[in-house]
Amino acid sequence: MKYVDTNNLDKLPGRRLENNDTFSFHCHQGLSCFNLCCRNLNLFLYPYDVVRLKKRLGITSDQFIDKYVDIVLRRSSFFPEVLLRMSENKKKTCPFLTESGCSVYPDRPDTCRTFPVEQGMMYDAETKKKVLIHFFRPPDFCLGRHESKKWTACTWSNDQHAVLYNKMTLQWAELKGLFYTDPWGNEGPNGPRKKMAFMATYNMDQFRNFLFNSSFLKRYKVKSVILKKIKADDVELMNFGFEWVKFYIWGIKTKYLRLAQK
Ligand code: SF4
Ligand code: SF4
Repeated sequence: MKYVDTNNLDKLPGRRLENNDTFSFHCHQGLSCFNLCCRNLNLFLYPYDVVRLKKRLGITSDQFIDKYVDIVLRRSSFFPEVLLRMSENKKKTCPFLTESGCSVYPDRPDTCRTFPVEQGMMYDAETKKKVLIHFFRPPDFCLGRHESKKWTACTWSNDQHAVLYNKMTLQWAELKGLFYTDPWGNEGPNGPRKKMAFMATYNMDQFRNFLFNSSFLKRYKVKSVILKKIKADDVELMNFGFEWVKFYIWGIKTKYLRLAQK
């Protein structure tokens, strides 16, 4: 999910899908391209993707990040990108690809669900609101686009059970957008505040451990009802983490916590 420059909309690859615009697509094992799209990818993982995948695999977020993730800092953002590490075989296949398809299908990442549609976020100067936009962008080798089933961006998202994923990714994109200007100052992009921001957004098990086993709850007041939720539920914890990062890095007020009085 990227912020899209409104001046460059026409130059972006793919076909923009407005509300009722349709595209043809059907992916199935009978196509000769089956599984070709699950290799050699720059597959971005968002925080909710990690929550779902580590749960599916029955491992901690630490283990998931160690084993399956490459972390890359790009010039366009002051927060690193998290990419799924492809296997070290000739074809650089996705680590979750099997001969019969995706082994984590019910918990596959947002990008895989939404494919061959890609999403972006655009700032509408007239309404002063952020707007989600969609592009139909299958690679040339993808034969599914010649099939007859028709979709809109909305019906496709429903069919792929992507609505919740898209919502979570949008939340993340809004926070990530704050990192387009440098929040780190002299500390640089590898200092303790960046490490905190990464943990609170991508590493839920480590973040929970930090919250409940450090002096955090002496320094900050968090309502007991919220504490109960974040102790038990990774998605609640992730939402809390997003708010904490906004508060911690930029001082943006939140209903989730406040400084404890001395
Ligand atoms: S390339 Fe397209 S049609 Fe072929 S398996 Fe991948 S998504 Fe399906
Ligand atoms: S997670 Fe599944 S759908 Fe996504 S690239 Fe890997 S095998 Fe393909």
